[in-house]
Amino acid sequence: MVVTSVHQRTEQKVTVEFQVVPSNPKSDAEVAEILKGELGFGSFFTDHMISIVWEKETGWQTPEVLPYGPIAMDPANAVLHYGQEIFEGVKAYRHPNGEIAIFRPERNAARFNKSAKRLALPELPEELFIAACEKLTAVDSRWVPEQEGFSLYLRPFMFADEVFLGVRSAHRARFIVIASPSGNYFEGGLKPLKLWLSTSYNRAGVGGTGFAKCGGNYAASLVATDEAFANGCQQVLFTDAGDNDSIDELGGMNLFLVTNDNKLLTPELNGNILAGVTRESIIEIARDFGFTVEERNVTVSEWAAGVKSGYIQEAFACGTAAVIAPIGYLIGPDGFEIALPQPTGDVTVRIREEITGIQFGTRADKRGWLHQVAQ
Ligand SMILES: *Cc1c(COP(=O)(O)O)cnc(C)c1O
Repeated sequence: MVVTSVHQRTEQKVTVEFQVVPSNPKSDAEVAEILKGELGFGSFFTDHMISIVWEKETGWQTPEVLPYGPIAMDPANAVLHYGQEIFEGVKAYRHPNGEIAIFRPERNAARFNKSAKRLALPELPEELFIAACEKLTAVDSRWVPEQEGFSLYLRPFMFADEVFLGVRSAHRARFIVIASPSGNYFEGGLKPLKLWLSTSYNRAGVGGTGFAKCGGNYAASLVATDEAFANGCQQVLFTDAGDNDSIDELGGMNLFLVTNDNKLLTPELNGNILAGVTRESIIEIARDFGFTVEERNVTVSEWAAGVKSGYIQEAFACGTAAVIAPIGYLIGPDGFEIALPQPTGDVTVRIREEITGIQFGTRADKRGWLHQVAQ
C-alpha cells in the first residue's frame, strides 16, 4: 500500500510518498490509559516509526512507515564501534481546537544537516526530514496528548548502517524517526534546577563536535552528569576547555542569565555549543519584549560577581525537552556556590509563558513558527 501525504509549504508544494507496512497498533483504550498516566520523558513509544535507508551508490531509498520495534543489527555494524550517529528533538503539540502543530521543524532539519556534515553522514533533503516528522505525527495522532504541558516528542536520528570494521565514513546509513508522548522533562515541574559546575570534564573543544547534535557528545558528558547527581544536582554546567571559566552550556540545554537592567546574556555560538532552536526563539521573543540580548563570552566569574553585586537576578536553561527551566543554584567542588536572587524570576516566567503559549496554541503565532499537521 502506498499512501501519499501532501505538505503545504508557503514557497512550494512537496509530495513525499511513504511505503506503509501495516502494524499491530495498541487499542484506543490502551493508548488512553497510557496518556493519562505518569508519562515522564521518553518512556513510552507510539505504534509506528519512519525509516529511510541511504546508500552511497543510489542515495535515499523509498521512505517507509514501519511498525515500531527493535531493529536487527549485525555485531560488526560500524555505528556500534565508531559511534557515527546524529539526532534531533522536535515536539508536536495538541491545540485547544484539537489541531496538531509541530514547532519549527525546518530549523531542526537545517541543523540535522550541519550535524550530518560534521559526522560525515549524508545530508537529508529538508523536505524529507519535515515530511517524516509530519507523517509519523499524522499516523500516530492518537498519541499526541491533550493534557496541559504534555506533547509528542519526535526523535529523528541517523546512523552508519554498514557491516564493516574499517575506519572510514559509512557507505550505508539509516534515518529513523520515533515518537514518544511526554510529560515534564524534570520531575517537579517548574522547580528551579540545581546545576553542578564540572571542573574535571569538558564537553567540547575547538575543531571538535560541540556544535553537532551527536550521540558521542552525550556519551562524553555522562560521567559528569553522574557526578552532578551524586552532588544532589539535576544538570551539569560545562565550561570552555581553554580557560575553564567561559560558559559553554549544559550538555543538553543552553543557558541564559538575566540582569537587573533588562539584559539577557547568553554564550555566543562559538562552534563549541549547540545552536538551540529554543535558544534562537527566546532571543527573538526577548528582543520583541524590549530586552537587550547579548550573545557573547559569559564566564562563571562574571556570574558569581554579578550575583554578589545584585546585577544578575535570574538564570534559566532552555531546550526542546524542558523548554525553559529556571535555575536556583550553581554549585561546584570545594564549597563553590552561587544562589540566584530570583530562583524562578519574572523574566524567566514571562518568556516561558510566551513560548509555551505559542507552542500550545493559546497565544498568537506572529512569527510563523508553527507547522500544522493534517490529520
Ligand atoms: C538539543 C540540544 C540543545 C537544545 O537545543 P533545542 O533545539 O533548543 O532543543 C542544547 N544543547 C545540546 C548539546 C543539545 O543537544
